[in-house]
Amino acid sequence: MIPISRPLFGSEEEEAVLAVLRSGMIAQGPQVERFEAAFAALCGVPHAVAVSSGTTALYLALLAHGIGPGDEVITTPFTFIATANSVLMTGARPVFVDIDPASFNIDPALIAAAITPRTRAIIPVHLYGQIAAMDAIMEIAQRHGLVVIEDAAQAVGALFHDRPAGSFGTGCFSLYATKNITSGEGGMITTADPAVANHVRLLRSHGSRVRYYHEMLGYNFRMTDLQAAIGLVQVGKLAAFTERRLHHAAFFDRHISHPAVTKPQVQPGLRHVFHQYILRIHADHRAEAARQLAAAGVGTAIFYPLPIPRQPYYREIGYTDHLPVADQISAEVLALPVYPGLSDADLSQIVDAVNGMRLE
Ligand SMILES: *Cc1c(COP(=O)(O)O)cnc(C)c1O
Repeated sequence: MIPISRPLFGSEEEEAVLAVLRSGMIAQGPQVERFEAAFAALCGVPHAVAVSSGTTALYLALLAHGIGPGDEVITTPFTFIATANSVLMTGARPVFVDIDPASFNIDPALIAAAITPRTRAIIPVHLYGQIAAMDAIMEIAQRHGLVVIEDAAQAVGALFHDRPAGSFGTGCFSLYATKNITSGEGGMITTADPAVANHVRLLRSHGSRVRYYHEMLGYNFRMTDLQAAIGLVQVGKLAAFTERRLHHAAFFDRHISHPAVTKPQVQPGLRHVFHQYILRIHADHRAEAARQLAAAGVGTAIFYPLPIPRQPYYREIGYTDHLPVADQISAEVLALPVYPGLSDADLSQIVDAVNGMRLE
């Protein structure tokens, strides 16, 4: 079975981890600093702060912008749960705006109508590796004085014209095992604002600049040097990994030709980094398609089967939003394996499996 995703490590990561182990300094230390500097350069920003996960990156970014109880934060319903949960964790309220059916990202034309006097921030998500409509989103944010926090967990290395993901607002990245580069678990916050960077650094480590002096309430959301050593090697491999993903996506674009399947659309001027390659299949056929692909040795996954306000906890706290596009898309998406380690034989197997599906 070709799995839906698989991280790709070599002897470089193994040696980097061993070197940290042998150094005796395994918690946050010099490797984290080096990883941050490399990540900041990658995103074209002056500051990057490493944290324990993408979720804690989002949470601390919101806190550093002063968002909390009584505030509203506009975001997309079609994302991983962490995007909205991080807002709830601060005591603020996520407000869901429907998505654009071509890009699957938040529809900028619907944002203005969701803005109230309580709105403080917008969290666009660069879903599947394609940057959201940041020109329109930044314009709305500036007009209304709103903070922009990019959920770039799936989009490291993606470009909007010439601008990298994480360079528009405060960027939040994940280094979870399935992401385009990984440190096992981990997260990164990118910003051009030194005050935000400093605030996040304090929040990450018990509000402490000088050991055992605590300036504010903080957390232990640090990254270890073991993780950072892996992440640093992976940063060096990102360009090659992305080339592989783009190659695989182009192969699928060229060769997948099943009449029941719609292939992904890349918006003009954008560099999609294909964290996921997503097919759309009519809701009545999706489960059968996944079953036949599995029988042909191709793993698939559904990112994500429910818009966030349809999740049990969100229903329990009163969400009943009308989100027709997110509802339809979540019923139709099916992800194919697109990770860098796929071989030519894997790619042919995937294409043959898709083109050979028999759907009534
Ligand atoms: C992975 C992911 C996160 C959370 O990252 P973790 O490192 O798993 O905490 C947040 N948002 C999106 C869109 C993600 O894909």
